[in-house]
Amino acid sequence: MKKAALHNLGCKVNAYETEAMRQMLEKAGYQIVPFTDHADVYVINTCSVTNIADRKSRQMLHRAKKENPASIVVAAGCYVQTSPEAAKADEAIDIIIGNDRKHELIQLIEEYDGLREKRVLTELCDINEPGRTYETLSLERTAEHTRAFLKVQDGCNQFCSYCVIPYARGRVRSRLSEEVAGEVKRLAANGCREVVLTGIHLSSYGTDHGETLLDLIRRVHEVQGIRRIRLGSLEPGIITEEFVGALAGMEKVCPHFHLSLQSGCDETLRRMNRRYDTAQYEKKCSLIRSYYEHPAITTDVIVGFPGETEEEFERTKEFLQRIQFYEMHIFPYSPRKGTRAAVMEGQIPESVKKTRSESLLKLAKDMSQVFRSYYIGKEEEVLLEEKVQIGAEEYYTGYTREYVRVAVQSEQTAENQLRCGIITGQLTEGVYRMQNDFA
Ligand code: SF4
Repeated sequence: MKKAALHNLGCKVNAYETEAMRQMLEKAGYQIVPFTDHADVYVINTCSVTNIADRKSRQMLHRAKKENPASIVVAAGCYVQTSPEAAKADEAIDIIIGNDRKHELIQLIEEYDGLREKRVLTELCDINEPGRTYETLSLERTAEHTRAFLKVQDGCNQFCSYCVIPYARGRVRSRLSEEVAGEVKRLAANGCREVVLTGIHLSSYGTDHGETLLDLIRRVHEVQGIRRIRLGSLEPGIITEEFVGALAGMEKVCPHFHLSLQSGCDETLRRMNRRYDTAQYEKKCSLIRSYYEHPAITTDVIVGFPGETEEEFERTKEFLQRIQFYEMHIFPYSPRKGTRAAVMEGQIPESVKKTRSESLLKLAKDMSQVFRSYYIGKEEEVLLEEKVQIGAEEYYTGYTREYVRVAVQSEQTAENQLRCGIITGQLTEGVYRMQNDFA
């Protein structure tokens, strides 16, 4: 039996596509082995969100070819879309697959295996060509048993000044909600209890075919067996009274909103070409809090964006404190070749970016602590995922609806089960203890 190994870089959309390609290879009779093993075929789903991601993508491609020089090395995804010439010239790569031809993986490998001629098979499409249709991939089951990340949308039309993704992923295109519901039914039948709807720009879901994200969520909400629905990263623009009001009426939808902010300073937001200001963003958070008692609002923040003065940074920090996020992902700005921001004046020294990141990481840690400790003494529901050792004891751990990680002791097997109990306190860094109400 031929062996295949896969490696995923980057976001949840990439992770979904890599899982789909893994299941295609299995169906075609390949034995899937760890990436460090000797294999006949290596598939690397690359990322290009930063220059570092490009470098890591190249490293994994070269590592594969070094492990087995006779293997077929497939480079898929964003790096080959943004650096096609470099990819074509790279001796380690045998097959290049663009961001809308992954469904042809098996056929391309078989064709290549026959010809053994370098890279004659796939020419990279112009991913930015308007009117491209959504490339349907699908999962029969999830890599993890409990939760499935489900890609429902691709592409982005926002063109934030620091971002290369629209050039790597093309224009917005979305999957029909009927197809998504079909996949969710299959996953639920295979024991999946929670789905995370994700995309490159989820907030643009359906703008290409007329359905809305709310239509999609309603459809997934009807699927028997699915107990929880989470949403991937959202933009403030989609947070309307109608949207939040409808979500609050659907009990499976978890009160966990990742609302991408990037900066808490209006001048910086303008240079980023973001489509909102801090006042609008704050209103959206208040709207969410008007429908949910204690929703988890999380976000992304870029520090050290070109032109960010000390005063602008302090304004961002004050704004973050005012919103009181549950979690913040802090990214020091890294110039991305081909973007407008990379050639902007006022590039910030790395040492300053480091200081500012450390300051916000400390703030993020403090705010998370405050958010989690709110639940001490409260009854919460957890979806248990795995058995782990914490100190000398064994626990099952999982997440509450607000994505707080909790640990429970149980005699019975408890993976993939929903349970309720009282949160009694912090057990270890970032993990809270739930009293074992169900013996
Ligand atoms: S919304 Fe902006 S940051 Fe997000 S993928 Fe699109 S261009 Fe990039």
